Amino acid sequence: MISEPFIKARPVIENIENHHHQAYYVGGCVRDFLLKRPIGDVDITTSATPNIIQKIFAKVIPVGIEHGTVIVLHDDVPYEVTTFRVEGSYSDQRHPDSVTFINQIDKDLERRDFTINALAMDLSGNIIDLFGGKQDIKKKVIRTVGNGYDRFKEDSLRIIRAIRFASQLGFTIDPQTLNEMKEVSKDISNLAIERITKEFGKMFAGQYLKNGIYYLKESESYMYLPIFKDIPDLIHKIPDSLQPLHSFGEFIAFFHLLNTRVSVIDWVKNWKCSNQVKQEAVAIVKAYSLFEKAGIDNWLVYTLDCQYYEGFTNIMNIFHPELLDENELDKLYNSLPIHSRQELCMNGNDLLSWYPNIKGGPWIQKLLTSIEKEIVFGNLENRKKDIKDWIKWNPPEIN
Ligand code: ATP
Ligand code: MG
Repeated sequence: MISEPFIKARPVIENIENHHHQAYYVGGCVRDFLLKRPIGDVDITTSATPNIIQKIFAKVIPVGIEHGTVIVLHDDVPYEVTTFRVEGSYSDQRHPDSVTFINQIDKDLERRDFTINALAMDLSGNIIDLFGGKQDIKKKVIRTVGNGYDRFKEDSLRIIRAIRFASQLGFTIDPQTLNEMKEVSKDISNLAIERITKEFGKMFAGQYLKNGIYYLKESESYMYLPIFKDIPDLIHKIPDSLQPLHSFGEFIAFFHLLNTRVSVIDWVKNWKCSNQVKQEAVAIVKAYSLFEKAGIDNWLVYTLDCQYYEGFTNIMNIFHPELLDENELDKLYNSLPIHSRQELCMNGNDLLSWYPNIKGGPWIQKLLTSIEKEIVFGNLENRKKDIKDWIKWNPPEIN
């Protein structure tokens, strides 16, 4: 049964075919279709050049024209459409030095990393399988297309990708492929870290993470990765029971808490992470330290942004299993008297008017936080009169 994402992408392939070019579904979507896994992005491979694709579709984003890739927007869904190509070497460890567009799919499939990813499917559901990918899917094996040593030498990111797929799919890595990974693993040091970070995010979110970590150790590739290479012990400290980490922010929070000598900022810098990832890791770690001081209380739930509740719960479940139920934070949040400082019935200006003889300064923030805390814990009503009374007994500290 052809599933929804393929049906939605069908008009894209039909349009290319109507213009007398070949086009196929390719790569991960075909693999996942055969595995009956949820399908992520539907990628398309075609004999039409990027120029032709730009001419025959209304909405095209030229993301990587020189490498043959454009994004076609159809019904608001983006599709990566890549021209059949063969690649030169990857001397910058990022992109092939040169690509040559070709007219036939076979060489295009040959340049792909693993047999399970070198599958294409036409509109009738016929699968092109030149390297035994279907058989490997059945046997649950990850194996390179062609000689592994050469393929890993061409692009050592494929070593990390093999481990990523082992973690996502629960497959074994073919013993010869694994040996070849070991032989080339040193080359990982030359890769652009952003490429590794992207694969690692997917690896650590994998349903079969334990399998992925096994191969991370077994292939010795961790010895050539930032931070892991300096603290070889780190990888061996990962608990066997580790559950998938759904974001890179969680990944960093986890490894920082596993070895607090490496700061969140060190991880962010070494792994070139976005600000968004940094913010998530910082928020989770901050909440964790509040937990260590005072347990799960109103203040922790109040100060942690709701978008990080799931990440924090995950991290808690690793280090303190069964201490925190899935919806516990939400329940506590819903019971809070206020949910943000905006809800306070007064602000810094009120404090200034109540103390006309004291100049503005850090005391304002300090006092506001104390008031906020009292209210959040339910010790003080969020009413001006009550707050004014409370301040009488807790006057501002002016230094
Ligand atoms: P996902 O479902 O996670 O997106 P995917 O298999 O689609 O998995 P992508 O990274 O999106 O993985 O790559 C799309 C396809 O491009 C792969 O299935 C593979 O055929 C090919 N590919 C990607 N990266 C490489 C690489 N470094 N070397 C060779 N082929 C690659
Ligand atoms: Mg993909």
